[in-house]
Amino acid sequence: MKIGILTIGNELMNGRIADTNASLIAREANQQGWSVEAIMSVGDDFAAIKNRLNYLLSMADAVICSGGLGPTSDDITTAAIAEAFGLPLYTDENVLNYIKDIFTKFNFPWIENNAKQAMFPEGAQVLPNARGTAPGFSLSIKGKLIFVIPGVPAEAKLMVTNSVIPALRKHFPQDEQYIVKQTIKTFGLSEAAVDERMNDIDFNSFGVNIGFYPVFPENHIVLIARNENKEEAKKNLQKAQDEVSTHVQDYIFAYGEQTLEDVIAGLLTEKKLTIAVAESCTGGLITNRLTDVSGSSDYLERGLITYSNAAKISMLGVPAEVIEKHGAVSEETARLMAEGIRKLSGTDLGLSSTGIAGPTGGSPGKPVGTVYIALADAKQTICRHYSYRWDRKRNKDMFSEAALFLLKNYLQGKV
Ligand code: ATP
Ligand code: MG
Repeated sequence: MKIGILTIGNELMNGRIADTNASLIAREANQQGWSVEAIMSVGDDFAAIKNRLNYLLSMADAVICSGGLGPTSDDITTAAIAEAFGLPLYTDENVLNYIKDIFTKFNFPWIENNAKQAMFPEGAQVLPNARGTAPGFSLSIKGKLIFVIPGVPAEAKLMVTNSVIPALRKHFPQDEQYIVKQTIKTFGLSEAAVDERMNDIDFNSFGVNIGFYPVFPENHIVLIARNENKEEAKKNLQKAQDEVSTHVQDYIFAYGEQTLEDVIAGLLTEKKLTIAVAESCTGGLITNRLTDVSGSSDYLERGLITYSNAAKISMLGVPAEVIEKHGAVSEETARLMAEGIRKLSGTDLGLSSTGIAGPTGGSPGKPVGTVYIALADAKQTICRHYSYRWDRKRNKDMFSEAALFLLKNYLQGKV
């Protein structure tokens, strides 16, 4: 089935808000195995709404519109759509009473403008809105379906899942297929490099679609298998996943909903190991991410942000001479930080970061984006040096990911 998406609102045209409804609707449609033919946005403008709607209807079986259902005079979506198809507007008394009840319940004075939200083009089916006052509606025009839902993202989301998807599945039952999907999360390869490694996999022969989703600093691969037979769909998905796993191997850290932090939590718990973190350039990000997992107090003892040289010296016992000789951003300092936090905390492991997030502070020998990550256990300290080239925020995200990735590899016996 072919879908068109039309998001409506002046705030989309002047860039005040990002069009999250379009991506929400597109994601949901893709999950159903439907093809999104076009996504368009338009201001609160009569002629433009009519024009874009007709254009989308010319290429799609169904068009999903969001926004402009409110009570104010700039919300004209319903009127524009009615006019586009020469349909008169009528007031739905049930909806009107429902809206009036909400006003009574919350003690809001009734303003006649609100009655607008109970008006629909003739022939429309009202779609209830469990979260707000403005219901949506659907219209059938020459065998094609138009859905109109509110702009408020939380309301739009509920209505897409509860009303729009079920109605479309009912109306176009030939699309009934089992859809199974898997997300494969990777770190350390660019999107293009991941793609290249999988060049010789013929996903079509498995009946599987592949998509790439950069979720900085990670790259996620999403596999979607469709089949009339559920078992067949699952089998094909597994085959495709196995292929990806062999081709991308060590860069994969998790499948499905699991995060890098979750994987680390599982490994630390399984091995009954504790950890403490000493952070410089990451400013607490690594520790923050470790604490994103419920129950992390079982293995995380503490995290210190030792930002200044003085803090590295007094709290972690890094000798001043080492910092003087090699610099705060150096392998030597990183190693001593990891060993220092481990000793101080009495944990099995000590993890440290020291680097230059930028944009200032770089030098020819140690440019912005340089980071040293060290991990100490009772027997040894390993240290890795990486060079990135992002802005400050992204460098910090990269550094923390690199540290956690190194920790994961260590726990899996891969370093
Ligand atoms: P309401 O009854 O709340 O006025 P509405 O259908 O009129 O609903 P809008 O007035 O268009 O919706 O937008 C309501 C809110 O939703 C605004 O805060 C707007 O920024 C946000 N919004 C509208 N369209 C989108 C969109 N496509 N993506 C994300 N947010 C949106
Ligand atoms: Mg509005």
